[in-house]
Amino acid sequence: MQDRRQTRQVTIGDDHVGRVTIGGGAPIRVQTMTAGYTHDIDACVAEIERYRAAGADVVRVAVPERKDTEALKEILKQVRVPIVADVHFHYQRALEAVEAGIHKIRLNPGNINDRDQVNKVIDACKERRIPIRIGVNEGSIIERKDKQRRMEELGKYFAGHRSGHLLALMIAKLEEYVDIFRERDFHDIVISAKSMDAALVIDIYTEIAARFEYPLHLGVTHAGTKDSGAIRSVVALGSLIANGIGDTVRISYASDHIDEVKDALEMLYCLGKRERKGVDLIACPTCGRIQVDLFTLVKEVERTLMPEIQLPIKVAVMGCIVNGPGEAEGADVAVFAGDRRGIIYVQGERVANVEESEILPRLLKEVKEFEARVKAGEAKLGEKRVEILPPAPIGELGSGHAKIAAGQVEQVTIGRS
Ligand code: SF4
Repeated sequence: MQDRRQTRQVTIGDDHVGRVTIGGGAPIRVQTMTAGYTHDIDACVAEIERYRAAGADVVRVAVPERKDTEALKEILKQVRVPIVADVHFHYQRALEAVEAGIHKIRLNPGNINDRDQVNKVIDACKERRIPIRIGVNEGSIIERKDKQRRMEELGKYFAGHRSGHLLALMIAKLEEYVDIFRERDFHDIVISAKSMDAALVIDIYTEIAARFEYPLHLGVTHAGTKDSGAIRSVVALGSLIANGIGDTVRISYASDHIDEVKDALEMLYCLGKRERKGVDLIACPTCGRIQVDLFTLVKEVERTLMPEIQLPIKVAVMGCIVNGPGEAEGADVAVFAGDRRGIIYVQGERVANVEESEILPRLLKEVKEFEARVKAGEAKLGEKRVEILPPAPIGELGSGHAKIAAGQVEQVTIGRS
């Protein structure tokens, strides 16, 4: 893992919704965008609140029409998270959003590039200290004759790249646009340069990270549904973040946007870039030793524990007692299933041996009690008190079925460390 790239810092928000810093060493922020109409005020507020509750730090809304910016004033009164107005084609929407008290503007250099219009937006934002994201998208880049020479220079630089022309075009567009802001001494800028091509996203952000001092908003556009888009998104954004690049992220799915928030947070947790909130669930993939319906159990554990538990308690759900202990090493609470039963451990100490139907309620009870003890200062997360030793090999090594059938799971050794 590389150290985080140093950037300027921008702050968005106000006294009402709170302030969120981006870049300059702040935690990597999670964003999403509403899918419904902004002018449908009640639905828009409800959607924003849903994403905020799921962990979004910032929510963006589209404002294609005047009725959308007119709705902003009321929306901003009701929400509790900074809101970004996503502006395309009509610079007036940006001015109207600023007037309504918006917390940040997103401009697309591909479709708002009249210098006077951009200057008007910059001046309005500068007066109210509202940051602007300059968001270039692969799909909205338009080649312009006056930038031909710079493009050709960059084109030579990226000659060996499979998307060299596109890379050059996106960088030229960004440089041109950022210059307008710099000329007006406006630096509350966040930059993004998105594509649907994960490899191109890695290359373009690596290039712009080296060229600009502003925070970067990462994203892969049109990634697909959660099923098809998760890997495309996480491979690009995770690689960049591991290389120290990126200050805010949006994962984009053509499905419920709540998954964008959940997956972005999970990616940041996995990379150690955000402090986990709620259960850290690990589960075995199952194999020929399995003797319970583990897939259903894991889903139920996830569904039940996630809304109930606030602390990052590591919970392991393991299919058997044979290899499970080693695989669950480090879990605060673990259940090892076998012979239609589940043996539950809390920080390595066996606390229950219950029938399959009792596993879920008992596990929930143990996790809740453990959380209460941690909150009361009586226990500490990640502190193993005893060792779980796997049973000595009997018969064929790893044959959990035979061991369990022979009642030999009791050979699991619990020894104080
Ligand atoms: S050995 Fe046990 S814990 Fe590991 S995958 Fe198989 S059933 Fe799950």
